Amino acid sequence: PTLDAIKEKGTFTLMTATGFPPFEYLGADGQPAGVDIDVGKLVADELGVEYEVLDMDFGLLIEALKSGKGDMIGAGMTVTDERAQQVDFTVTYATAGQVLLLPADSTITSAEELKSGDYTVTVQANTTGDIYVQDTLGISSPLQFKNAVECAAALAAGKADAAVIDSVAANTIVKNYEGELKVLDEMVTEENYALAIAKGQEDLVEFVNQVIEKNIENGTIDKLLEEHTAL
Ligand code: GLN
Repeated sequence: PTLDAIKEKGTFTLMTATGFPPFEYLGADGQPAGVDIDVGKLVADELGVEYEVLDMDFGLLIEALKSGKGDMIGAGMTVTDERAQQVDFTVTYATAGQVLLLPADSTITSAEELKSGDYTVTVQANTTGDIYVQDTLGISSPLQFKNAVECAAALAAGKADAAVIDSVAANTIVKNYEGELKVLDEMVTEENYALAIAKGQEDLVEFVNQVIEKNIENGTIDKLLEEHTAL
């Protein structure tokens, strides 16, 4: 739908995939919370409509957007050429890169070492980390989970030797595993996060771009990142 159709419908629907703090996680009340959830609310408020959040597996988001289940994806989604052929991306609102999350006593010191194939590497299915591990590190069947929180839990339980996940999520999650897990400084990719909108809705993309730009300039996005990382 175009902007007018959303206003007529009276609801703006954000689609997300919790388990990726600080961008989206389940809050104390069991409801989705996080930077993306708040940014979606800013858009709904500017549109003057109700706000709804649909939580699903990351790998299902693009198809769900294309089939019209929601108006926008807010899921710490990295802009890639392959995705840009299927959806339109807004301007970038955050940056990150893949890092290694490891057991605290791990002797692994770089992603390069994982190429040996001697390690069980866990990733979030269908993410840029998954793609990096398979295509760049040449690990054909990494241990896939549906989100970063599950990857960390598997690592802590000794089911994997390393997780390759987004830096911001890794640095947030590791706080819950003090003395158990650590994050390696090395960032092996550079990624831009943007919101995704179904093709053919230039007016909505333009509208959301303005909301993002305004909230980057006035410091709201930085404030939200701090707020949700502190949890
Ligand atoms: N940024 C990564 C990607 O877009 C991971 C996103 C996520 O797990 N929510 O593939």
